Amino acid sequence: MEKKDHLREYHGKRDFGRTREPEGRSAAAGEAPRFVVQIHDARTLHFDFRLQVDDVLKSWSVPKGPSDDPHDKRLAMPTEDHPLEYEDFEGVIPKGEYGGGTVIVWDHGTYEPLSHDRKGRPVDFGESLERGHATFRLSGSKLHGEYALTRIRGSQDDREAWLLVKAGKGHSGAHGTPDPYRARSSRTGRTLAQVAADGDEG
Ligand code: MN
Repeated sequence: MEKKDHLREYHGKRDFGRTREPEGRSAAAGEAPRFVVQIHDARTLHFDFRLQVDDVLKSWSVPKGPSDDPHDKRLAMPTEDHPLEYEDFEGVIPKGEYGGGTVIVWDHGTYEPLSHDRKGRPVDFGESLERGHATFRLSGSKLHGEYALTRIRGSQDDREAWLLVKAGKGHSGAHGTPDPYRARSSRTGRTLAQVAADGDEG
């Protein structure tokens, strides 16, 4: 497959002869944009939050994972754009490779871009991310409702940081932080331990 420029950093970090992670394809026209949240049991366990913008998944590493409690402000560190097929990736990245460890799809679905300017007019979603504040409504199997991503530190240096926060006033049904070791894949129902045990068979 031709390596696309917008995935240069992603491709540069990986040896596709060794990892079964995907290499990349183009988006289908006219479909609602996708999101995925993966749990990644790498050197440090974290959640990976990804939103489709055109032909890539814009990505953030969220140490504690998304919360459905609007009082929780979740730190989100940007990572390199990922290919669209990464939405489906669940399995084991070999030890010693970039991101080596187990990945499950914790939640996936579509989202509705809600970003607007100060006068309430809709703005291009990718542009709103570049400017450092985007709002969107998730329709997943676990996550539902409006969330915001807001850049809180540096857009140039590698310490760039964002916050992922649920909109609204909070409700008694909020679950807060998911337990990553008990959580099950929204695709296959498996836990991290089960995917790790299944290895490449998964
Ligand atoms: Mn990760």
